[in-house]
Amino acid sequence: MSTVICNICERREAFFFRPYSGDKLCRKCFTMSIKNKVRATIAKYNMLEYDDRIAIAVSGGKDSLSLLHVLARIERNFPKASLVAVSIDEGITGYRDEAIKMAAEKCKELGVAHHIVSFKELYGYTQDEIVTRRKREEKTELTPCAYCGVLRRKALNIAAREMKADKVATAHTLDDETQTILLNILHGDPLRIARQKPLTDDVHPKLVQRIKPFCEIPERETALYAYIKKIRFQDMPCPYASEAMRNDIRLFLNRMEHKHAGTKFTVFKSIEKIRPAIGRMVRKEELTECVKCGEPTTGEICKTCEMLQQLKML
Ligand code: SF4
Ligand code: ZN
Ligand code: ZN
Repeated sequence: MSTVICNICERREAFFFRPYSGDKLCRKCFTMSIKNKVRATIAKYNMLEYDDRIAIAVSGGKDSLSLLHVLARIERNFPKASLVAVSIDEGITGYRDEAIKMAAEKCKELGVAHHIVSFKELYGYTQDEIVTRRKREEKTELTPCAYCGVLRRKALNIAAREMKADKVATAHTLDDETQTILLNILHGDPLRIARQKPLTDDVHPKLVQRIKPFCEIPERETALYAYIKKIRFQDMPCPYASEAMRNDIRLFLNRMEHKHAGTKFTVFKSIEKIRPAIGRMVRKEELTECVKCGEPTTGEICKTCEMLQQLKML
């Protein structure tokens, strides 16, 4: 069998075929292409300033550890920029502890300061306790992930602010973004798409701007990046993971991508074209401070306080 040569360097053996571009890449050109794509995404959406302090949300999974690795490399070229990693410990027994250990190891190796914030210290309860209370109070119309997502977003903002970060980077991939787009449509809430920008534009002195430098990188490629760079990550699923509809959408998009390479990009780019128009249809709500906790919110009390109050945990 003849050896296939990388079509970028035209020297080394190719080991990865990128169906949506037709490229056959060697390991080196593949990892280089990920860094270049992330640089291009950052530039395209004006995600960063040359002297930003960036907090990276690191869960310990493949996407966030790959993002940490890529941004640590890119940051070397920006002496005035700085990086810090933030992990949120939701308090999920037998799951998050191991992931945080892996995140800590990687941060140490890369020389990036690592800050851990737990639900327990911030809210007084772990996610395990919230899930138990949710059952007891029979508030089962919301999934465990619905609570966790809201509480984690707030925790991340607080942690990034404490670390004096200008931006908080999350490792949402092209797959996450396209799944969320379709989920919003299938849930009958398409206007939510306006808020899921690669660079958020809500302005409040207590709100750290969020960026998604991996929004144009397929998940398959973040996994491959982690594999090539020998990054140890947690791949065990969370015991509460239950988003049945997201899983169906994931399968559907993967099947479409397999049959019609580039489908995920097409979905993402189509939405990027109409996102400003969707944004104009949404009434821009003023951000104020929650009367209970003082964090930014559009209502009188923030979503976190509302959820905890309903569970009689506030
Ligand atoms: Fe939280 Fe759900 Fe993710 Fe588990 S799967 S960490 S409960 S959002
Ligand atoms: Zn090559
Ligand atoms: Zn609040």
